[in-house]
Amino acid sequence: MINQTPAQFIEFLKKENIKRFYFVYNTKKKTVVSSHSQLQSIADFLNNDKRDFNKHEGLFFQLTEKYDILQGAFVHRTNRGQASGGVRYWNYDLMEDYFRDGLRLANGMTYKNALAGLWWGGGKGVMIHNSKFDKKNRELRDYVYSQYGLFLSTLNGCYVTAEDVGTNVEDMAKIFSGTRFTTCIPGKLGGSGNPSVPTAKGVVKGMEAALKVNNMGTLKGKTIAVQGAGNVGEPLINFLFEKGVFKIIVADINPDNIYKVEKRFNGQNLETHLIEKNDNSILFENVDIVAPCAVGATLNPSTIPNIKAKIICGAANNQLEDSERDGLDVFKRGILYVPDFLTNRMGIVNCANEQYGFVNNDSLIENHFTEDWKFSVYQMTMQVLKKSQEEGIPPAVTANIMADKLSLENHPIMGHRSQKVIDSLVENKWELA
Ligand code: NAD
Repeated sequence: MINQTPAQFIEFLKKENIKRFYFVYNTKKKTVVSSHSQLQSIADFLNNDKRDFNKHEGLFFQLTEKYDILQGAFVHRTNRGQASGGVRYWNYDLMEDYFRDGLRLANGMTYKNALAGLWWGGGKGVMIHNSKFDKKNRELRDYVYSQYGLFLSTLNGCYVTAEDVGTNVEDMAKIFSGTRFTTCIPGKLGGSGNPSVPTAKGVVKGMEAALKVNNMGTLKGKTIAVQGAGNVGEPLINFLFEKGVFKIIVADINPDNIYKVEKRFNGQNLETHLIEKNDNSILFENVDIVAPCAVGATLNPSTIPNIKAKIICGAANNQLEDSERDGLDVFKRGILYVPDFLTNRMGIVNCANEQYGFVNNDSLIENHFTEDWKFSVYQMTMQVLKKSQEEGIPPAVTANIMADKLSLENHPIMGHRSQKVIDSLVENKWELA
């Protein structure tokens, strides 16, 4: 079944008249339980998987009435609080790719949130686009996202969504029309707005910590290569110039964004490169730090041997194509890699507590930029990098070990409540409602 294409799988669901289904982890029996016997082979796949399945507490799915869109909520671990992470609307060739993506991303959010000291668990929403329809069509999107909101309402709050790749602010407003279990709603509806500037600021703090650990002083006078001059790249360049860096080299595939930074930083020591899509040569510049701020998987066997910088620290998600293989290669080359989920946390931090209202200079956000709070980007980066050096293991592995431990701490007030929510959904036969 996992080898089927999404279209084949959806046909199967329709034939069996399955509109909702789930897979939950039974901690007593130590096994994944499926809502429908017809879907047991997927539960078996999860039970036997050693790569991406990590005792995820619950995976919930619904098929939309119109457009045949499969919508999912992947809840990984909720000891620290409700599962939190964005919703992705993406194309997948096979059901296995879909499940693996959701599992991996949800686990990633558990670790990101825990290392950020947030009282949130980790989860991710993933929807499979039906390629028969135009994804940009507003009517379709309004339907898909409002249905997703209603879907989240049925899950009683064990997963709280946010914005992610392929989802925009207008889409978030549609989700909000169907549920209160969402963040990242538009500012005019009481949301926290675009997190890119705080994200860029978090990257700067990660760079400062890495320089300190490497005995390289401060950002003043350094040369930095930035891959991607988008929502994060542009404010990052600004913060770096404010910190007194000597020179910045930036590459982007989009001429508009290159033009924008040339205009904004006119007169400053900025070198721009308008490049082709697969050109990663910006990573090979003779600089102190490279900052991947474009797409994922740019750190791989074809790029790592050519990197001359001593530090890699950027905002892009999943920079290592293969976290184990490439993390080890970077480490063996003596390059200090600051795990992406450590430095780009401000995206989720900025929206995580938006339902508690807004205050100027919010300490719950500003704490992350300090140098003394134990969960700040600076402190956490120092801790991870030092521990990695002491123990002789790559920083991403160290960060995962630390995050795993933190993620098992129960919320100080709510305890492990979302697990109870999941148990209640199963008891109430959620799949039949
Ligand atoms: P964006 O789309 O605004 O910017 C990405 C930029 O990279 C664009 O200018 C694009 O033209 C450019 N680009 C794409 N492919 C490229 C390539 N091969 N080489 C060079 N440039 C290329 O996205 P963003 O919001 O700035 O986010 C950048 C990265 O950081 C993404 O991976 C995103 O998932 C991650 N991230 C962003 C935030 C946030 O707050 N925006 C938070 C966490 C993580």
